[in-house]
Amino acid sequence: MDADVIVVGAGPAGALCAYLLARAGATVLILEKALLPRYKPCGGGLTLRALRFLPFDPSPIVEVRAIGGQLAWEGRPLLQCRREPYVALMVMRDRFDAWLVEQAQKVGARLFTGALALRVEESKNFVQVETPSGILRAAYLVGADGVNSVVARHLGWRRRPTGVALEAELRVSARGLEQQGAYLTFDFGALPYGYGWIFPKTSHLSVGVFYAQEGRASDLKALLGHFLSHYPHVAGATIERVQGHRIPLGGEPQTLHTRRILLVGDAANLADAFLGEGISYALWSAHLAASVLFDCLANGQASLAMYTHAVQKTIGRELRHAARLARWVYAHPKHAAALLVGSAWLQTLWIDTLTARRSFTALLRVLPLYLPAILAQNLTRRQHRGTMG
Ligand SMILES: Cc1cc2nc3c(=O)[nH]c(=O)nc-3n(C[C@H](O)[C@H](O)[C@H](O)COP(=O)(O)OP(=O)(O)OC[C@H]3O[C@@H](n4cnc5c(N)ncnc54)[C@H](O)[C@@H]3O)c2cc1C
Repeated sequence: MDADVIVVGAGPAGALCAYLLARAGATVLILEKALLPRYKPCGGGLTLRALRFLPFDPSPIVEVRAIGGQLAWEGRPLLQCRREPYVALMVMRDRFDAWLVEQAQKVGARLFTGALALRVEESKNFVQVETPSGILRAAYLVGADGVNSVVARHLGWRRRPTGVALEAELRVSARGLEQQGAYLTFDFGALPYGYGWIFPKTSHLSVGVFYAQEGRASDLKALLGHFLSHYPHVAGATIERVQGHRIPLGGEPQTLHTRRILLVGDAANLADAFLGEGISYALWSAHLAASVLFDCLANGQASLAMYTHAVQKTIGRELRHAARLARWVYAHPKHAAALLVGSAWLQTLWIDTLTARRSFTALLRVLPLYLPAILAQNLTRRQHRGTMG
């Protein structure tokens, strides 16, 4: 046997799972197809939820501490907020992921880069992975290989609901950077069934569009250009990179284990269907996976079924609520924006949810109680405007 556990994929889910297992004394191998550090198209926004699941201080690789955010509609600000000490931390994924893997290596995990997992096979006593340079065996295997997971295919997953996002890194003038400040921009008028974002980094801006529906959006590049045309401070910016990637639309219950294999992060479809945020769920699932795997290594009678159960009770519930919210908001985005502008109470709820101070589950618990009053208020305001006009 080459290890107790083989982890396929060195993104946040795989790296943290490897760290937790190795720290607890397991022998761990990480197989990563890329050479690290590698670019990953991602806004690099670490929400407060993500930070709760990071066992170490990310300060060395943080680019910007975002102190607030603005919600906009086609460039027009709808509302702005500021929260102390910050609403999110901004990272570049090449540095963040490499740093996480280093933490795993420091506690004993072994990393093989340029190691593409081609096929997985499971037998009664072990699981094996075929790579171009040979076969590796372990007692258990973690599929952390992202949205196009080879390991998930072994579990019989042929199709999964996904959205798609396009990310660009923009080199803007010093004045452009200053105008963005340490604020995040979310523009829900940028495209139908999604939003556009502008996130500040140390010396550039990460911008992108997220299309929250299955299938391919017509022309994301054109949508990104149209979105950015509403923001004069990015006009004339040099585009350093544009890259698209699928994002899982979580929310459907799925089996995430076999006898010797389990799936974490994007490989397990654990990103939210409303914002496409997935790092926090990748880290959360890594904790749940490591805990169940450790039980299984210590006690032959324990079962990986505990993992699917734990995910469904926690992350799964949250993602189901995010998917419900996505269906409401993206079906009537203009209406949702108008309600938001008219209700200070709704604004607080919204900002707390975007910044992960409040869960989607908690939001949907209170929303139906107060929504009728907010709708009535909005109707009265419109009627009043009608009589005045
Ligand atoms: C444009 C865009 C913007 C986003 N912005 C945000 C954001 O701001 N905040 C947020 O929280 N989430 C964001 N997300 C979602 C987030 O990027 C993912 O949810 C997150 O990366 C999931 O982490 P993971 O470890 O599960 O998978 P990944 O980060 O995808 O890592 C998987 C790893 O597995 C490796 N791999 C794949 N196949 C194999 C194989 N066969 N063999 C070996 N290795 C393999 C890959 O090279 C990769 O390193 C964004 C996504 C996109 C596309």
